[in-house]
Amino acid sequence: MLKLRLLNAVAPAYFFTATAVTFIFHFGFFIPTIFPSQGISLDGSKVLHTVIFLFLMFNALGNYIMTIKYPAESANETVIPVCSPHCSDKVDAHYLLNGRHFCKLCKKVILKRDHHCFFTGNCIGNKNMRYFIMFCIYTSCTCLYSLVLGVAFLTVEYSISFENPLTFLTLLPFSTGYFFMGTISGLQLFLVLMLYVWLGIGLVCAGFCCQQVLLVARGQTWCQMQRGQLAENCNPWRANLKDVFGTRWMLGLILPVQTVETCSEDHRHNIQH
Ligand SMILES: [Zn+2]
Repeated sequence: MLKLRLLNAVAPAYFFTATAVTFIFHFGFFIPTIFPSQGISLDGSKVLHTVIFLFLMFNALGNYIMTIKYPAESANETVIPVCSPHCSDKVDAHYLLNGRHFCKLCKKVILKRDHHCFFTGNCIGNKNMRYFIMFCIYTSCTCLYSLVLGVAFLTVEYSISFENPLTFLTLLPFSTGYFFMGTISGLQLFLVLMLYVWLGIGLVCAGFCCQQVLLVARGQTWCQMQRGQLAENCNPWRANLKDVFGTRWMLGLILPVQTVETCSEDHRHNIQH
């Protein structure tokens, strides 16, 4: 449990550090080197790349904030269930009846819980699933875009050719060797390391996002899948997607805004109670 608590604190710090480093590399190194300014005239491609990067970053951070701002629906239960030593849910949540979960990290009873996201330090459920998926998509895009610009930077600045696909595989071992030999600086080695970090995060986020979209379309949560439970509802996938992404989903694809009508949700709750 201590490990999970530690992870809950370290993961957001890691996210913000990686974001700051990506920002510094883009505006401090990539854009000024790849698109050197010629006189006072504004370079079209320089503006285009800056706009694309800022758009991706804005959506990634915006959806990150929205995931925290609209947390998963929690029940107003005052009795906190105590997990017995023989509890099978030893990980991060204690399964209660009727599909509710007690998250040991959020210390709340969560309705329709999907999983606990360590990067946002929050549980992901029905209310913030949309922002979480968009956060994954844009984080993946930002990382892969940074990777492309990073490779372009190495080609322009150090004349490293990436024509041979093996170059990328041998880049890290060679760079580490050159660093200890004193041929390259620590900053250059750090940039090479960041290329692998961007590739890793980009691919993991893209894969995770695809899985979440499939689960949403099936009307199933991650928790249910792990317990081997089938989806409770038999709604068509379009209805399941609409339930999570809302009616104004197209707007949600390009801006971190609320697309699920909250008034109708409150109304639905009033009917239930
Ligand atoms: Zn949680």
